[in-house]
Amino acid sequence: MVIKGPITRPTDNHECRKSSKKVAATLENLYHFVHSGLPNVYLAGINYYVCEKCGKQSADIPALNELMVKISRAVVGQEARLSGAEIRFLRKRLKKKSSDFGKIIGVTPEQISRWENDGNLPSESADKLIRVFFCLLSGDEALLEKVTKHIDGWLATLPGEEHATNFQAQLRDHQWAAESVPA
Ligand SMILES: [Zn+2]
Repeated sequence: MVIKGPITRPTDNHECRKSSKKVAATLENLYHFVHSGLPNVYLAGINYYVCEKCGKQSADIPALNELMVKISRAVVGQEARLSGAEIRFLRKRLKKKSSDFGKIIGVTPEQISRWENDGNLPSESADKLIRVFFCLLSGDEALLEKVTKHIDGWLATLPGEEHATNFQAQLRDHQWAAESVPA
């Protein structure tokens, strides 16, 4: 017989919610936002909770939709080449299957899988095309302005030097600001 789900022993049978301490996430003590869909997003300006029994973390994240929009802008606007996780993140933000996204940018679903899963970097032109189509399809006015009014200067700077990148977002006065920072 196969038992699914976590095995609970009597000693760690607890409710994390009741055993948690509240911690303020600051620029010096960032909260790792693992549910963002990217491995490298860190938040400040919110409270999070750490279970004192098992270490499990959770957070209050206000204005989640705005946060995801700001992270998307930071991903598309970064100088470094898009990583596989970032391509998957952008594709999922557009709610596109690999096959449909591939048709839009002119590559096979297998190619998308090689970028997203095998760590193959996209070519410079594929990288630019993904960003441009994301701007056009995302419905984000700020990104639309980027591709309509500032596309020459923007694309001429891409991709910049290869470097590991993190995304850092801070909530201030109920508004999210996000940027890419060297990892
Ligand atoms: Zn716990």
